[in-house]
Amino acid sequence: MNKTIGYSQNRPRIGRFAPSPTGPLHFGSLVAAVGSYLDARAIGGQWLLRIEDVDRPRIVPGMIDAQMHALERYGFEWDGDVLRQSERSAFYQAALDRLVAAGLAYPCTCRRSHIAAAPDARHGVDGLVYPGFCSSWQRGMAVPPDAAWRFRVPAGLTDFNDRIRGRFAQNLRDDVGDFPLLRADGCFTYQLAVVVDDLAQGVTDIVRGADLIDSTPRQIALIDALGGKPPTYAHLPVVTNEVGEKLSKQTLAQAIPIDQEAARVEQLWKALLFLGQQPDPALRQASQTTLWSWAMAHWLPARVAG
Ligand code: GLU
Ligand code: ZN
Repeated sequence: MNKTIGYSQNRPRIGRFAPSPTGPLHFGSLVAAVGSYLDARAIGGQWLLRIEDVDRPRIVPGMIDAQMHALERYGFEWDGDVLRQSERSAFYQAALDRLVAAGLAYPCTCRRSHIAAAPDARHGVDGLVYPGFCSSWQRGMAVPPDAAWRFRVPAGLTDFNDRIRGRFAQNLRDDVGDFPLLRADGCFTYQLAVVVDDLAQGVTDIVRGADLIDSTPRQIALIDALGGKPPTYAHLPVVTNEVGEKLSKQTLAQAIPIDQEAARVEQLWKALLFLGQQPDPALRQASQTTLWSWAMAHWLPARVAG
């Protein structure tokens, strides 16, 4: 085991990129794609593409094809079939059934306003901490119509060793509370879908933006509850705009250019620079193929800033 980069040897490495088709890929998405791609491929591992279109109301029509087209133009090659979360509800339901059977999920009919109005209402790492109003439900009791389902989070600290940022811990009861697996509108949540899919696809190494690090303890707790083995995690620095906001659809991040090779090379070069890879300035004028060969041969995860 190499401590600095957290590789364990002798196992096939499987990475993935999992965009949500809610808007065109921007520079922040490109950084996550490049980081996960090089991390898996530079040592001969596989890299999977998964479309996270589980949150139906947020999907923008045409965006799946647009994102896949952009990735192709940038020279990414994924292994196997593209998984689409919108086609996997049966697997999410099966996981939820297992959690219910294990006493680890319960229906909840609380509205946000009801939670916010509680005398001890408080914010955690991701909005209001759910105070557990419905948590006395037990298997065999009636299930109210239009209920959401929540996961009973474990007590104590849930922690992991991030390959870039080191130890990261949360007390899920204090920092998050029992969180939704299935929403009242019938959509399974990102937290459940991502865990079921990472397990189903055998993902061994997750490389993604640090904006998701607050979700990782929830995902580890779910993996444990489902009897899986957590992957390794590397959370990349978040790309921000001139005023310090994370690039996203909400902050009107620009789409990455796709038509001109020179423009793509410029973006890829900047992504490598952002990831601490010190690409030679001459490579800014190289062909896309040349730049990728250089990146593949020189990828050093230990250079990524925490
Ligand atoms: N679909 C998520 C996003 O686009 C990424 C999920 C993940 O990498 O776990 O932000
Ligand atoms: Zn409730």
